[in-house]
Amino acid sequence: MHTQTYRVKGMHCASCSAIIEKTFKKVAGVQSAEVNYGTEKAKVSFDPSQTNPHALSKHIEPLGYSLEVPVTAEEMGMSADEHAAHLGLNQSKKEKLAEIADMGTKVAVSIPLAIFSGFVMAWEILAQFSVVPAVPYVWSEFFHHILPIMATYMLFVVGKAYLRGIYTFLRYGKANMDTLIGIGTSVAFMYSAIVMAFEESLRQFINVEHTYYDVAIVVIAFITLGKYLEARAKVKTGDAIEKLLNLQAKTALVLRDGQEVEVPVGQLAHGDVIVVKPAGKIPVDGVIVEGTSFVDESMITGEAMPVQKSKGELVVGGTLNTSGSFTFKATKVGSETLLAHIITMVEEAQGSKAPIQALADKISSIFVPAVLVIAFVSLGAWLLVGTQYLGFSQALSLGLVSFVGILVIACPCALGLATPTAIIVGVGKGAKEGILIKDAATLERLNKVDTVVVDKTGTLTKGKPELVSIKKYAELSDKEIVAILAALENKSEHPIAHAVVSYAKGKGYTLPAVESFGAIKGKGIKGTIDGREYFAGNVKLMTDLRLSVDHNAIQKETSNGSTPVFLSSKDQLLGVVMVADAVKPEAKEAVSKLRNMGIRVIMLSGDDKNTAAHIARQVGIDEVIAEVMPEDKLNTIKKLQSEGRVVAMAGDGVNDAPALAQADVGIAMATGTDVAIESAGIALLNGDISKLVKAITLSKMTMRGIKQNLFWAFFYNIIGIPLAAGALYPVFGWLLNPVFAGLAMAFSSVSVVGNSLRIKAMKL
Ligand code: ADP
Ligand code: MG
Repeated sequence: MHTQTYRVKGMHCASCSAIIEKTFKKVAGVQSAEVNYGTEKAKVSFDPSQTNPHALSKHIEPLGYSLEVPVTAEEMGMSADEHAAHLGLNQSKKEKLAEIADMGTKVAVSIPLAIFSGFVMAWEILAQFSVVPAVPYVWSEFFHHILPIMATYMLFVVGKAYLRGIYTFLRYGKANMDTLIGIGTSVAFMYSAIVMAFEESLRQFINVEHTYYDVAIVVIAFITLGKYLEARAKVKTGDAIEKLLNLQAKTALVLRDGQEVEVPVGQLAHGDVIVVKPAGKIPVDGVIVEGTSFVDESMITGEAMPVQKSKGELVVGGTLNTSGSFTFKATKVGSETLLAHIITMVEEAQGSKAPIQALADKISSIFVPAVLVIAFVSLGAWLLVGTQYLGFSQALSLGLVSFVGILVIACPCALGLATPTAIIVGVGKGAKEGILIKDAATLERLNKVDTVVVDKTGTLTKGKPELVSIKKYAELSDKEIVAILAALENKSEHPIAHAVVSYAKGKGYTLPAVESFGAIKGKGIKGTIDGREYFAGNVKLMTDLRLSVDHNAIQKETSNGSTPVFLSSKDQLLGVVMVADAVKPEAKEAVSKLRNMGIRVIMLSGDDKNTAAHIARQVGIDEVIAEVMPEDKLNTIKKLQSEGRVVAMAGDGVNDAPALAQADVGIAMATGTDVAIESAGIALLNGDISKLVKAITLSKMTMRGIKQNLFWAFFYNIIGIPLAAGALYPVFGWLLNPVFAGLAMAFSSVSVVGNSLRIKAMKL
């Protein structure tokens, strides 16, 4: 099964996405299809032996759409690099801008025409009531001959897409928004043309003075204007990706035979030594080999303060060096870099569908045919019932107005934009803050979270523990204890391990060679040095080995928040070192903010009970579950869920993966350049719990925006249809003019997109 996302061309409305989805799903070999009107992308899973993107595109082309299938490097006879440069991630955006410019020209032509005909129309109505003097006969004749010409231009040139909508409907039975507008405006046009052509013979049946060319002109003009504004705003919702793309450096200074050579980033390879000058951009991910500097990582992590970096530390591509200079070795290039991952993630998340959208999708897919039926029923009702009271001529005229009005106002356009635009803005805003969200569903679920379970290390604490004291129980020197311990820990990834190793390295100790190293889950590690087997880890590990530990001796340190790491052989306790990890300064405030949101905060740690309790007290958490094995972390989450709680779990994503996956929302605290998002729904770059608070706030904001959008879109359609049908006519003699229907229709889409854009400016 092959899953790929393509840009879809030719979508004009939300119901288009439903039509395309349905069409794809019927194709043999297609497993699933998800089409998003917001991003204009289609994600299709298909069996490549049965179908291919070109064939898929062929299925929708008769309906007026197509898939933009990227031509492969091979087909173009290019190298992979040339191909990448040729395609450029900005390609679809450029096309979009060209499309918008084209729409702009249409607007520039049609708005003056609309104003002109609107003016004439208004004047004539006012003249009927003698508010203004009647138009001189010659002028009136002139207007009535120029209106059909203008209307012809509007319908057949500016409104071509809408006519196409009628064609697809007649030919394939698929109705979309364009169909509604198309039928509405062309009925107004055709009625007027018939009246004009057979003026004399129709005079006895209907009011031949009354034509609807102006309706066709104004409606098409407003809708085109609405689409234009909508498209412009939509481009703005997606500019987060563009900003990320612009972070990418174009070239890098590489050291080749002692010479600095400028090389395009696309040609960088692993191990290249790259020079970064003051105020230079860091081109790819790597490790500093020489020099020290402060690096501004705000564009990736959202952290405003520049971070000091020296030898051995990681630098991230796309970030900005400040005043120092340094050289670093490239470890990740091209699509492996953190920035590249972030870009693909944001793109995928923006294109994904939130569950809340399912209802809107369902409604818009049955909406169009339903509205067609309503429009015809309303026309029929006017003719049947209206004729009895108003006479045929008047009833036909009102019936037509309501027919056109319903078709125009009922377009489910705003409904289709409500969710995706807010998701695009929300996900993009998150990325700017170093909050990476896997998909829209996660963002939606986060909003419902009522319990947050946090891992201690790295989430509440800095995750960079330091060795603070050494105790020995045997005839070994401190130096020997540390050297053995560091040799073992050198093979481990646990934060504790880094503390011990960097202490030993700082002292300049040489580490003996270790054989048959192994990790003991949730307890520690073991390994053989010079034929003797050693163990390092917590009290549990010592208890397993049947070695007794004097708890009182370490009580004081653990109560201060230090973690004991015992070193032993199979039958003898050799020593213990204490490792301390400082609490993050912002953790306390973040915990209290979560509490204020009504969220229950629980700390979960594999660490010593005393140590964990001390840290918890410092940050204001009163529920602590300590000394848990990794699988018990999973069970803790399950238990909370069985109590009906919606749980978010924040952890480092390494040994917490099962728990992160089990939680309703898994939040990975990403360090360095690895984003362990696979098991998690959200990754917080260089994150702590305060970023988690921001993520929850973002989710609440986005969901609120979506709900507002959906409410207005529904409200507007629900109110609009009966108004247009003439429900108020018998009471007030009031009928919605199709011109206002067009205006309202345009306004609703623009206001939905505008409301989504508002999320961008809100404070997290
Ligand atoms: P946590 O991530 O909450 O610390 P872990 O399951 O990773 O939970 O580890 C549980 C405990 O096991 C640690 O607190 C520590 O005491 C011990 N431990 C794990 N790995 C190591 C190691 N490499 N060196 C020493 N102790 C370790
Ligand atoms: Mg852990």
